[in-house]
Amino acid sequence: MKPAVFEYHTPTELNEALDLLEEFGFDAKIMSGGQSLIPMMNMRLARPKVIIDINNISDLNYIRVNDSVVQIGGMTRHYQVEESEKISQVCPLLSEGMKLIGHSQIRSRGTIGGSVAHADPTAELPVMLATLGATITLASSDGLRTVTTDEFFITYMTTAMEMNEILVSVEIPLPPKRTGFAIDEFTLRKGDFGIVLAAAMVTLDEEGKISAATLCLGGVDGVPVVLEEVTEGLIGHFPDDELISECCNLIGEFIDPEPDVHASAEYRKDLSITYAKRVLLLASNRASISEVK
Ligand SMILES: Cc1cc2nc3c(=O)[nH]c(=O)nc-3n(C[C@H](O)[C@H](O)[C@H](O)COP(=O)(O)OP(=O)(O)OC[C@H]3O[C@@H](n4cnc5c(N)ncnc54)[C@H](O)[C@@H]3O)c2cc1C
Repeated sequence: MKPAVFEYHTPTELNEALDLLEEFGFDAKIMSGGQSLIPMMNMRLARPKVIIDINNISDLNYIRVNDSVVQIGGMTRHYQVEESEKISQVCPLLSEGMKLIGHSQIRSRGTIGGSVAHADPTAELPVMLATLGATITLASSDGLRTVTTDEFFITYMTTAMEMNEILVSVEIPLPPKRTGFAIDEFTLRKGDFGIVLAAAMVTLDEEGKISAATLCLGGVDGVPVVLEEVTEGLIGHFPDDELISECCNLIGEFIDPEPDVHASAEYRKDLSITYAKRVLLLASNRASISEVK
């Protein structure tokens, strides 16, 4: 299938792209990797009159790590994050989770900005960013603004991004020492979007007790769901299979997934419990041997 006719612009500077967005408004769409946008245009689910292709804005492609934060530019490709040694050292959750996104062909084109802006509730990246307490920076001709993932993701494929904004970067705070991570998902076939996915981050104190824990689920709502109600019961305790199971068995009280052709609501709840236990346990084990500083 072929897309409807569109005008095509290839700015090389961010300001140029922002000017084009101001000029064409709702008629325009940003194109990054095109891995979601092009299929939607080919199926005529999207019919933008103007495409602003930002692939030539090389300033938006970077991975930077300083003492407190990892910053990843919006045009950075999935594979670059997956293969980055810096990322695997300071934020191994991202290295692990990137491998779950589609197939290598998708990851060679798909971008951080595109995946986050697309806001698919079963996409891995939004779930990882919510787990990691990341922020998202948006640029417009008025300047920059930074929002939390909670503020950014509103519902299914709907974000707080204004029509004249471009997602320029995500920022991830560096985790403390003795922090472990894990992500896992249930898919019908390898490389598919997950039916349910779960990610966890667990930090231990010097005695080995849990001092902080985050659990985030995807595929159970229109946005990534962080379940503090479930992890608060872990704080101050040594990691323990039974305790983790007890806390995760509460998950059904806090989520209300929609049934669809892939899974009933009850099945999604069951999967959530199973995968939450799995990632919390693995993250706890990894925290006890973590050398992440
Ligand atoms: C066969 C297949 C399997 C896939 N499997 C998975 C999977 O398992 N998990 C997963 O997470 N994804 C999966 N994807 C999607 C893939 O990860 C996409 O790359 C990603 O969702 C979109 O990134 P992109 O750079 O290609 O964005 P594009 O397709 O270029 O854009 C997507 C949307 O975001 C907007 N946009 C893009 N960049 C920006 C920006 N910087 N600022 C503002 N708006 C922007 C566009 O206007 C568009 O609305 C799959 C795709 C395919 C084709």
